[in-house]
Amino acid sequence: MRRALVAANWKMNLDLPQMRAWVAAARAELTGTLAVDVVVCPPFPYLFPMAKALAECAIRLGAQDAYHETSGAFTGEVSAVMVRETGAAYVILGHSERRHTIGHLEDDRMVNLKLRAVQSVGMTPILCVGETLAQRKASQTLDVLSFQLSAGLSGVRVSSGEQLVIAYEPVWAIGTGLNATAAQAQEAHAHLRAELTRLIGREPAAQVRIIYGGSLKPENANELMGQADVDGGLVGGASLKAETFTRIVRVVSQSG
Ligand code: PEP
Repeated sequence: MRRALVAANWKMNLDLPQMRAWVAAARAELTGTLAVDVVVCPPFPYLFPMAKALAECAIRLGAQDAYHETSGAFTGEVSAVMVRETGAAYVILGHSERRHTIGHLEDDRMVNLKLRAVQSVGMTPILCVGETLAQRKASQTLDVLSFQLSAGLSGVRVSSGEQLVIAYEPVWAIGTGLNATAAQAQEAHAHLRAELTRLIGREPAAQVRIIYGGSLKPENANELMGQADVDGGLVGGASLKAETFTRIVRVVSQSG
């Protein structure tokens, strides 16, 4: 039985007072025992203040990226060790906005190096994979997922579900208001689980959470979370308001 996970990806949004207000509202909303792990991922400069704001709170801290080198002449980069020092436990890697945006254009090799660095310092990578609309239309979705997963996990050992989270994020659904149908999500997640079984073995593959991201909202969460291999969500736009995000968390918690 996998415990669901819901992560808020704030991207490059909100300022410090807004983040503090968000945490206060989310703490008030998420009282009692939840059947779900909750993670919030602010931009780098806010990791320390958010770690403080989240003290003695069940919401865990995550980062939106981490560089693979430990230290050195890498202007503008932030290493996995530095991220861990803030108290972050999770790191989003291979997000489509880093794979496809000019200035980043991260390839699978870079994602793999970062993933190894994050794991080596004891944090949990949230590895994002997903097809573009053109790839879906060309019936390449499952091949793209297989490739991104095996390249991202190249040389990586996973012995328990705590060491890895996969996010299925169809690129055409991110920030567009379009979401995968429950059937499309389940097909992708089941495929990823089968591929994980091949790559890391049956037992860890059965434990790894595979979460869905792409215009997830309180209104569509119930149907998506009802799928056997959908173990939670990565939430962008709908995570910016604590009220909306915590409604998604409640839906996920109740569907478990
Ligand atoms: C994301 O950026 O990971 C994401 C899922 O965004 P949105 O929920 O806005 O589609």
